[in-house]
Amino acid sequence: MIKKNAAYSSKKPVRDDFLIFGSPQIMDDEIEEVVKTLRSCWIGTGPKVGKFEEDFRKYIGSKYALAVNSCTAGLHLVLLAAGIKNGDEVITTPMTFCATANVIIHSGGKPVFADIEKGSLNIDPFEIEKKITEKTKVILPVHYTGRPCNMDSILKIAKKYSLKVISDCAHAIEAEYHGKKVGSIGDMSVFSFYVTKNLVTGEGGMITLSDPQYADDIRILTLHGMSKDAWKRYSDEEYKHYFVVAPGYKYNMTDMQASLGIHQLKRIESNWKRRLEIWYRYNQAFKTLPVMIPAEFEENTRHALHLYTLILDIDKLQTDRDGVLNALYKENIGTGVHFIAVHLHPYYKEKFGYKKEDFPISSYISDRTISLPFSAKLSDRDVEDVIISVKRVLEYYSR
Ligand SMILES: *Cc1c(COP(=O)(O)O)cnc(C)c1O
Repeated sequence: MIKKNAAYSSKKPVRDDFLIFGSPQIMDDEIEEVVKTLRSCWIGTGPKVGKFEEDFRKYIGSKYALAVNSCTAGLHLVLLAAGIKNGDEVITTPMTFCATANVIIHSGGKPVFADIEKGSLNIDPFEIEKKITEKTKVILPVHYTGRPCNMDSILKIAKKYSLKVISDCAHAIEAEYHGKKVGSIGDMSVFSFYVTKNLVTGEGGMITLSDPQYADDIRILTLHGMSKDAWKRYSDEEYKHYFVVAPGYKYNMTDMQASLGIHQLKRIESNWKRRLEIWYRYNQAFKTLPVMIPAEFEENTRHALHLYTLILDIDKLQTDRDGVLNALYKENIGTGVHFIAVHLHPYYKEKFGYKKEDFPISSYISDRTISLPFSAKLSDRDVEDVIISVKRVLEYYSR
C-alpha cells in the first residue's frame, strides 16, 4: 500500500483557533485564593499546604497525605522510604511516562518491565510474576489513563513474595477499585498535579499512605532532611533551630500551589462527570472507524477518565500514527501520545539492551496510540470539532 504520509492538507480547518491538548481549567475561585496567598506573604510551605493535604487525604480515604512539588519527586521519596538501593529491582510497566522508570534509577534501583494486558493496557500480573527475582523489592503499577490495575492479583503476588506495592496514581485521582480509592490500596501511592492532569497546581504532587514510619521518613526527606519540627520553624511562637537528620531533598509544595489545589479538588467530581459525558460521546462517534476505542469499564471499578486514547488500526490506513497526528494538527486539533513505551527510548535501549519484541503489546500500542482532547473545560462545540476532524482524517487515509 502506498503511504501518503505527508499528503494531507485541509482547505479550511475544522476550527479557526487551535484546540490545545490538555489545557487546564482554571476558575475564579483558585485565582482569588492565589491572590489572597500572595497578599498574606506566606508564599512558601504553610497553612494552605496543610489544608490541601487534609482535604486530599479525606478524598482518598488514606491515613496520611503528604504534599510534594511533583509526582516525580514523590515517587523518588517513596522508593527511598521503601528502602530501594543499589541493584534492587522494581517491576513496572513500559507503557508509562518516563518519570516512573527514571525515579527507580534515581533511587539506585533497576527498572524491570513487565508487559501490559491487551484490553486494559495496564501491567499484566502474569508478566509481573515472571519477572520476580531475589532482588525484586517493589511492584510499581501505573493506573494507565485512569483505569485501575488488577489490584487483587498484584497484592496477592506482593504478599506471596514479600514485596511492597507503590502505585503511580498520576492519572488516577478519582479511580476506585472494589469500593476503595486506588490511592488507599497498597503501601504508598503518588499523584501528579502537573498542568495536564485531572487536578492541577502548575507543578505538584501528593503521596498517600497509611504507615506512620514511612510518613515520618518521607516528611523529613521532603525538606532537606530536617527533623519533623522544622516545619513549624517560621511560626510566631518562638525561634526554633532545625536539625538535619538525613541528606534530604527540596521537594516541598508551596502555598501558592496549594491555593490552586484546594479549589481544583472541590470540582474534581463535577469535572469527572463532564468527562464521562465526553467519553460516551467519543465512544459512540468512533466505534465504526478503523480504531480500537477504550475497553469497557471493569466491573466494580471506577475509571478516573484522565485520558481518552484511540488505538489506530494502521494496517487499514495509508499512513502511520504520526501521519494522523499531523493531519489533526492541520485541522487545528491538538493531540498527545501516551506513551512512546519507555523501553523504546534511547537511554533504556542502550543501557538495558531492550528491543521492541521484549514487550510486544506495549510496543504495538506505542506505535498506534493517540490521545484526544479530554478536559472538562471542553465545550460541546469543541467535542464535535474533535469528532469531525478525527472522522475527516481517518476517512481521508482510509481511501
Ligand atoms: C505526569 C506523570 C508523571 C509525572 O508527574 P509530574 O508531576 O510531572 O512529576 C508520572 N507518571 C505518570 C504516569 C504521569 O503521567
